[in-house]
Amino acid sequence: AKSQGRGNFQFFSAEMNTATHERLLLENRLWQALEQNEFELYLQPQIELASGRIIGAEALLRWHHPELGMVGPDRFIPIAEESGLILPLGDWVLQRASHLLASWRAPGLEHLRLAVNLSARQCHGAGLLPHLDRLLDTHGIDPALLELEITESAAMQDPERSRALLVELRSRGIKVAIDDFGTGYSSLSYLKLFEIDRIKIDRGFVKDIESDPNDAVIVAATIALAHSLGLGVVAEGVETQAQRSFLRAKGCDEAQGYLFARPMPVAQFEAMVRSESMA
Ligand code: C2E
Ligand code: CA
Ligand code: CA
Ligand code: CA
Repeated sequence: AKSQGRGNFQFFSAEMNTATHERLLLENRLWQALEQNEFELYLQPQIELASGRIIGAEALLRWHHPELGMVGPDRFIPIAEESGLILPLGDWVLQRASHLLASWRAPGLEHLRLAVNLSARQCHGAGLLPHLDRLLDTHGIDPALLELEITESAAMQDPERSRALLVELRSRGIKVAIDDFGTGYSSLSYLKLFEIDRIKIDRGFVKDIESDPNDAVIVAATIALAHSLGLGVVAEGVETQAQRSFLRAKGCDEAQGYLFARPMPVAQFEAMVRSESMA
């Protein structure tokens, strides 16, 4: 038993070394990556369930790492948060999103809403509102077409500050959505504390709608609760027709997920919207 334990330990520590090595590779290049334009925004369509039409998209960061290839945000956002790079990176995302919204003032695209993720540090720093004001002003963007997604855990790090931020955002006409709704410890107090427009039901609940009766009940009740508070509902991570039918039957407003489309480059998303509007 002892020798097996040692074997396990060695295996585990080799794995850790790989993880540490990757982390170092990412960390070392992260700052340079912004300067060298290695980041890209992918877009995942958001579908209005009643009509089946694309009403907008969520912007999701991708990093084209010169050695590792395409790197997803789950691998570098936590590092960027720790190192502080998330602030300039978050500004870059907002700037890129504003450019996109400005370029969508074109026939067939002008109705599209763009949702952008905010990190905890961005929410609690002082630079966000002035930066947003400048961007909205420079690009002449309709603030109602910009939606900012804030996770429960980010907002709850400093509830008073978040509350004030959300009031400021909404006074500008910017939309606010709670991301990963239901995964925190205080989802209901969140609804009581914060002025918001929409909730995004976490994929963890959507995933088991068909197999777990409890999840089906929770999702249906969450939709009803949100609606009775005057909030819109987006379901995340919809992968099957059965999930889509269930959500539509329960009155869920919008959905996104691999069933409809994976996150994709901007040009591909625009082509998808254009071909839909011609159909
Ligand atoms: P999130 O905001 O919850 O984004 C949804 C994630 O679920 C995305 O992963 C998306 O690709 C994935 N997804 C969408 N539909 C499906 C589906 O049907 N099945 C499955 N299995 N997954 C689906 P992604 O792009 O890897 O992003 C991961 C997380 O990284 C995001 O989670 C968000 O928290 C963070 N992130 C992404 N972009 C940004 C950004 O610009 N700023 C900040 N602060 N965070 C970002
Ligand atoms: Ca999100
Ligand atoms: Ca989410
Ligand atoms: Ca998530």
